[in-house]
Amino acid sequence: AVNVDDMYYAYSANSDIASKGEYGGVVTTIMKYLLENNIVDAIVAVEEGVDIYDAVPCLITDPEDVIKSAGSIHCGTLNLAKFVSKYLDGCRDMKIAVTCKPCDAMTMRELMKKGKIIEDNVIMIGVNCGGTMSPVPTMKMIEEVYELDPKDVVKEEIAKGKLIMETKDGEEKAISIDELEEDGMGRRENCQRCELKIPSNADLALGNWGVIGPLAGKATFVEVFSERGADVLDKVIEAGVINTEEPIEKGITIRENINNIMLKNSAKKKAADIEGTTGDIIDVFHAYQDEFSKCMKCYGCREACPLCFCEDCCLEAEGPEWVPGGYTPAAPFFHLTRMVHMVDACTNCGQCSEVCPSEIPVSKVWATVNNKVKEVYGYMSGFDTGEPIPFTEYPKKDNVHK
Ligand code: FAD
Ligand code: SF4
Repeated sequence: AVNVDDMYYAYSANSDIASKGEYGGVVTTIMKYLLENNIVDAIVAVEEGVDIYDAVPCLITDPEDVIKSAGSIHCGTLNLAKFVSKYLDGCRDMKIAVTCKPCDAMTMRELMKKGKIIEDNVIMIGVNCGGTMSPVPTMKMIEEVYELDPKDVVKEEIAKGKLIMETKDGEEKAISIDELEEDGMGRRENCQRCELKIPSNADLALGNWGVIGPLAGKATFVEVFSERGADVLDKVIEAGVINTEEPIEKGITIRENINNIMLKNSAKKKAADIEGTTGDIIDVFHAYQDEFSKCMKCYGCREACPLCFCEDCCLEAEGPEWVPGGYTPAAPFFHLTRMVHMVDACTNCGQCSEVCPSEIPVSKVWATVNNKVKEVYGYMSGFDTGEPIPFTEYPKKDNVHK
């Protein structure tokens, strides 16, 4: 039987899925199995739209369609937590399995604590993530720095400290990721300071780090993080839909070393980001006063924020008692209200920065403030530690089990 903390090398027994999948198609095979056997009503994953720069969230209910979601889209900057809470009503009356990058999983955990996603109805299939890249700047970088046509690029990956672009003609160009990021390119800046690369807060975590030997590139590393994850893996192994092998000991060490290097780099970036904001939360706000003065109040950041769901922000920041018709609220007021509502739970997912037309580093600001919350209250957002959320009491309500 499979147990929590077990590790495997695995690949799909279905050759079509194995070849379309990123590293053996295990995520896709698990999803398909869960759907075929009515363990879930639907799966939530990400499909390629018109090209590799177009990541589309999808809800799949036909097992035959699951294969369409196979593969990793590194320009997929979306956060699936909002999709689940807003468009699926937090899975109040359906069961799903969802692919989660660490930031998807962290945000879902916060929304579960707030009763906005029903934990018992969601199986979280985690994928390791070294970071994602925003589509438009990435295309620009490919054109100007790699001197390639973005349309010709079929695959991008980070390996041995380099960001590698591979074209449809088999040409490969690699540039040091550190150098690119020093020049403001590469991974999104929130990903660069992200402190979770292996989603230990999901039920399972799958990734290519540590797969060495004959299965390198053809299989994925699977680690079990919950009883539910163990049960799911047990079932798919038992059904013979995936093949597993014991991981090579040296591979386990390599995976741990890569993860540690990534986390060390993130810590360095985070320290640089919060440098100079040593006072309290309001001091952070003051430090970014000029940036916030650029806010045009499009409310894009609030719309994109997966943790923003209450109506209070709208009422408080835009209600007629504060803002007469035809006016927009004063810049700091809207952001201060938003801060009180979400910053304790902020998971550094970067959705706010992604959409801000004024290019305000909103994600960096909230990550800095969230770090203060961590220091003062010891609260770790994104994990189910049993600690109460510091600023607001959200009851776990409507916990309807199917
Ligand atoms: P598949 O069967 O191919 O399934 C992949 C699943 O990921 C599908 O459900 C697909 O819809 C979903 N998906 C694709 N793009 C996204 C996205 N942007 N956001 C959310 N879900 C998505 N592993 C590492 O060890 N190191 C890394 O640095 C690393 N970086 C990654 C970065 C990203 C953005 C992604 C999505 C994955 C990353 N992985 C990384 C995991 C790795 O690429 C494989 O997903 C994993 O090994 C499972 O392989 P598979 O063949 O079983 O997956
Ligand atoms: Fe202001 Fe940018 Fe948020 Fe729009 S997205 S409200 S401009 S901070």
